[in-house]
Amino acid sequence: MSLGWIGLGHMGVPMALRLRRAGHPVNVYNRTMEKTAPLVNEGAVALGTPRAVIEQSDIIFLMLADGPAVTAVLEQANGLLASPLQGKIIVNFSTISPEQSISFAARIEQTGATYLEAPVSGSVGVAEAGQLVLLLGGDDKAVAICRPYFEVLGKESIHFGAHGTGSSAKLAINLLLALVGEGVAETLWLGERAGLDKEKLLQLIGASGMNTPLFQGKQTMYREERFPAAFPLRLMAKDLGLITEEAKRLTLDLPLATTAHTQYQQALQNGHGDEDMAAVYLSFKQQ
Ligand code: NAP
Repeated sequence: MSLGWIGLGHMGVPMALRLRRAGHPVNVYNRTMEKTAPLVNEGAVALGTPRAVIEQSDIIFLMLADGPAVTAVLEQANGLLASPLQGKIIVNFSTISPEQSISFAARIEQTGATYLEAPVSGSVGVAEAGQLVLLLGGDDKAVAICRPYFEVLGKESIHFGAHGTGSSAKLAINLLLALVGEGVAETLWLGERAGLDKEKLLQLIGASGMNTPLFQGKQTMYREERFPAAFPLRLMAKDLGLITEEAKRLTLDLPLATTAHTQYQQALQNGHGDEDMAAVYLSFKQQ
């Protein structure tokens, strides 16, 4: 099967590279053409429009920033909906709301293509190592066809059910991610303001039951107060927006999600959007 890839940002590049390095032919498109270079260097073919990718591929993967980015790729001139989609499988890895995913599924499947949602849990290093967790929503048969590719990208795929369910699962796990980020930031801030040595506080968290792979991956950032993005804070703020909208839709009161949304928005307004989500810590230091 020939593979297509649309969206080569922080996550798209390492994921598409894994498929290419596993020996699959990969056709790539990115709005900013220069970002196709790491793939082209490994033998992928860069094409100028989403339509060209569709024409030359059987399964097309999308890894785009958000719902408006997916809409743009769908609706632009020579975009997905202007392409011969009959018989193709479109797999959307982007984090979007369940409602957006259900709506994209309907629009794409009207054309005779199959749509799968497969948002991922895990950041850039995890993607490079092929250790993502894929959260699937959609048709069983399409999941079975895509499974060999999912196995190159992730350590586990969990099929939650119909369209929308994978996106609901992604919002749920990212709420926990946001709260852990916020929790570490407040813990450090409390300890530091009480006069404790930050290095010893980091040692304490690492030795405690609250140590996590996430904390291990980010502790150098807290130590050095430099936050090169693995998961950009602007995307965490975007996801918290989706989470609070989803809570409203389900008439749920999620007080921690509401507080975290405000806190990450504050960090975004303070100019930390392109830094890692752990930079929410700086919004305490800068208050
Ligand atoms: P990113 O680095 O910001 O890349 C976003 C991609 O979307 C780029 O290819 C960008 O193209 C494209 N894009 C944005 N707006 C567009 C538009 N209007 N038309 C066409 N293309 C557009 O994001 P990322 O970190 O790779 O994340 C991608 C998705 O995965 C997001 O939904 C994110 O929430 C989710 N996710 C991220 C992580 C992580 O750790 N980073 C982890 C799990 C899930 P350009 O290059 O032209 O800007």
